[in-house]
Amino acid sequence: MTDESQAGLYKRVMIKLSGEALTGPEDHGLHAPTLSRIAEDLVGAAKLGSEIAVVVGGGNFFRGMQGAAKGIERARADSIGMLATVMNALAIEAAVEAAGHPARALSAVPMPSLCQPYSRQAALHHLAKQRICILAGGTGNPFFTTDTGAVLRGAELSADVVMKATQVDGIYTADPKRDPKAEWIGRLTHDEAIERRLAVMDTAAFALARENRIPIMVFSIAEPSAITEALSGHGRFTVVTP
Ligand code: UDP
Repeated sequence: MTDESQAGLYKRVMIKLSGEALTGPEDHGLHAPTLSRIAEDLVGAAKLGSEIAVVVGGGNFFRGMQGAAKGIERARADSIGMLATVMNALAIEAAVEAAGHPARALSAVPMPSLCQPYSRQAALHHLAKQRICILAGGTGNPFFTTDTGAVLRGAELSADVVMKATQVDGIYTADPKRDPKAEWIGRLTHDEAIERRLAVMDTAAFALARENRIPIMVFSIAEPSAITEALSGHGRFTVVTP
């Protein structure tokens, strides 16, 4: 597939970035060179002509489940997790601006002194102006993940695809980092992903994508220009379709 055909296919793209993607070689937090590389990649993707929205996770700082395991009430631990996503969104907003492209962070947990509260109208307005929108706070509710947040916002904003950036180049029959017999899967349906309990996204995210017929691309964020390449149809990725 050529660059033109794939980017032209996806007018509006929702990218899910995990917090882990921002840690680079560190074991937690933000790694400035990695942040810059990903910001430049997002700008490259925007230059292909698609409108770009990003939902960012917070696992590089805090995950609610881990907090709950240490005795923090789950709903409160998830609030801490949502705050972690705001830190990442502000860092990405700054990095995209430093890469020379307009960006707006919008938070599902209103924090007006830090960034604009999320609303569908505000996000659509920024996207129409070719600003890269970075959506923080996931769904704004505890007991959810930012994977589900990405599909929810993707559905709300009529994204043509959800691109899930991971540490591996697609979906495998098992975890390829643990099982040498794991086989790469090029294409599958939402139903198959749910039935086979493929752990790349949580079931709620797959179910919401299935209901709204949103394709999901799963690709590796390890290399520079990974997002731009995947959006151009190059390299290896898995596509989950209705
Ligand atoms: N979170 C939440 N509601 C949401 C999205 C996220 O409560 O809609 C919390 C939850 O505690 C989660 C944390 O924010 O563990 C960070 O998000 P996630 O684990 O999805 O981040 P990632 O693994 O993608 O870095």
